[in-house]
Amino acid sequence: MYASIEKLWLQGTAGRPPRLRRQIALTNQIALFGAMATLPYQVFYLFYDIALYWPVFSLNMLFMAGYLTVLGFNRSHRYTYSRNLVLINACTQILVVTYFIGAAAGVHLFYYAIGSVQALIFIRHRTAVLVWLLGGLVTLFLMCQFLFAEAATPVPEAYVNWMFAVSVVGAMTLSGSFSHLFRKEIDHAEDQLIQSNRNLEKLSTTDKLTGLANRRSLDQFLNHDWSRAHQDQLPTSILMCDVDSFKAFNDHYGHQAGDDCLQAIAQALRDVVRRPTDLVTRYGGEEFALVLPMTPEADARAIAERLRTRVEALQIPHAHSEVAPVVTISIGLSTLMPADEQPVAEVLAQADRALYRAKRQGRNRAVVHGETG
Ligand code: GH3
Ligand code: MG
Ligand code: MG
Repeated sequence: MYASIEKLWLQGTAGRPPRLRRQIALTNQIALFGAMATLPYQVFYLFYDIALYWPVFSLNMLFMAGYLTVLGFNRSHRYTYSRNLVLINACTQILVVTYFIGAAAGVHLFYYAIGSVQALIFIRHRTAVLVWLLGGLVTLFLMCQFLFAEAATPVPEAYVNWMFAVSVVGAMTLSGSFSHLFRKEIDHAEDQLIQSNRNLEKLSTTDKLTGLANRRSLDQFLNHDWSRAHQDQLPTSILMCDVDSFKAFNDHYGHQAGDDCLQAIAQALRDVVRRPTDLVTRYGGEEFALVLPMTPEADARAIAERLRTRVEALQIPHAHSEVAPVVTISIGLSTLMPADEQPVAEVLAQADRALYRAKRQGRNRAVVHGETG
């Protein structure tokens, strides 16, 4: 039931930008509810005294046809016509009905429901226009309240209270439903926004080639999460890895083979370093930086050795390497103790210097900062 009504008011919204979608959906809703809210009054006229109420009954039939036309306009993408028609149709209907049955029936309370959503269907208009619109609605309300005291075909005393109650409940239901439906739309839009932000965030912190975290997320980690990771009175180790003679590899096997090689190495690093708190990043071209919180130097050294042998074990042929017939990496390692005061950038630089020494000492090896080799 709800789904099929929803389908009705979503007429014409497909593929439209969000704001326009909301305008169309709301216009349709006003039309649908306007037509539905007319029904109880029509039933009353019909069964109480159709001869007396014939003028207001037949005019209401026209207004209901007007509401259906609104849906048709939206369906054929004539949104502005549709929006204007629903407003004119509803405002005129309330005025006409109040003229016939009098203000005591409270039909003009529906101006309140229209006023509460008018800003949502006039989406491209300045505040001044909205204020004028609201002023118009207020004027219409006051006209109904004070000019139509002498109704043409008033509702009998016994029923007027009931009809007033129906009008209040109707107006409340309308504005309540509109805000509920509108919130649903907003929730939907917000969910989409959050999702696309997450995707962007992931894109901006991920290296495209290897799928590892990129330098940006390493910087983020070192700038924001470092102190938290380092609080727990345990050392943090940083490893800098660099592929040996990679320029020669590229020159000999081509850039595509070089890319494939980097992907294989990235996977190998990920296979070795698996703790959720560890961070494996592609630091630059063929350099990888690893941050291992809660890892003392001895453990980090063992991990570095495992990384080195794992890459060697990939057995990617490298005919022009200075050190081995296969692709290898060199690693520099530095550990920050909880008591140490040096800035994290300094630890990174120490790991880099250790890496440089690993290169000088012949490559395909791990060197620990501060150790004499
Ligand atoms: P070393 O053993 O001293 O590290 O020698 P190297 O040749 O590896 O050092 P160098 O820094 O001179 O060379 C790095 C090379 O890595 C340069 C470039 O050809 C290659 N490279 C960097 N980024 C990429 C990449 O994204 N894809 C590919 N295929 N190659 C890359
Ligand atoms: Mg390099
Ligand atoms: Mg290199």
